[in-house]
Amino acid sequence: MLGDFRPSARPFCDKKRPACWTDVNGCLARAKRLVWRPQCGFPLLTKILDAADDLSVQVHPDDFYARKVEKVPYGKSECWYIIDCEEDAEIVFGHHADSKESFRAMVEKGAWDKLLRRVKVKPGDFFYVPSGTIHAIGRGIMILETQQSSDITYRVYDYGRKDANGNERELHLDSAISVTHFPDRNLPLHYEVVRESRGVVTTLVTEKYFTVYHWDVRGHITRAMDKPFMLASVIRGDGELSVEGKTYPIRKGDHFIIPSGVWEIEIHGTCELIVSHP
Ligand SMILES: [Zn+2]
Repeated sequence: MLGDFRPSARPFCDKKRPACWTDVNGCLARAKRLVWRPQCGFPLLTKILDAADDLSVQVHPDDFYARKVEKVPYGKSECWYIIDCEEDAEIVFGHHADSKESFRAMVEKGAWDKLLRRVKVKPGDFFYVPSGTIHAIGRGIMILETQQSSDITYRVYDYGRKDANGNERELHLDSAISVTHFPDRNLPLHYEVVRESRGVVTTLVTEKYFTVYHWDVRGHITRAMDKPFMLASVIRGDGELSVEGKTYPIRKGDHFIIPSGVWEIEIHGTCELIVSHP
């Protein structure tokens, strides 16, 4: 399914992404209000994940646990916009155990159907997956993930799969139980929708670590840029991006950073973007 989402080397600014990545101060940190510590590296990641098979069931720690136990600056909260999926595709999103003890007992019995909360998905669905949430992306689902810049992962279940040498992947049950919420928390999301004459801007989530929007451009939208930076990914269609008198063609599969110092951006065309900032 990845198709148009394969990374392209086409730079929008005079620096390619790795230079922006390491030069956080030069590219992105001119903002008046810094909400992350530049010495800890770039705070957000955007990924396209295309699951050909069920991905392992896992959970991530919060910042406090990540710093104390793993000695890394960030835990991991993440969120998923479903770009495309097969019919009846499912994710794992939460669990049904009421305590650590019953969670462990169900894992040891292999009572996965009883333990894991499965949710059917369709294109356009959005899920906020805070640290401490048991989760997995199912087969046949393509998502755009926005996440804290961390990859500390505790794997709970890998469907008993074995690699070419007959080995199963390592599981981290004790750490997983230490960081999982009991009982499970499923916070309802309230989208904020702003309709303009030629576009719709939906705020999908505003949370401690990131705010994520869906921009549905049906002709033209203009957005003020008052954030330290914005990450943008074109997930459908094509158009033109205008910034400070320059115009750039954009199309599905393009990803770009709008740095601080830009006051306003305009997009013309018929396209959808997922946009985020810290
Ligand atoms: Zn995850």
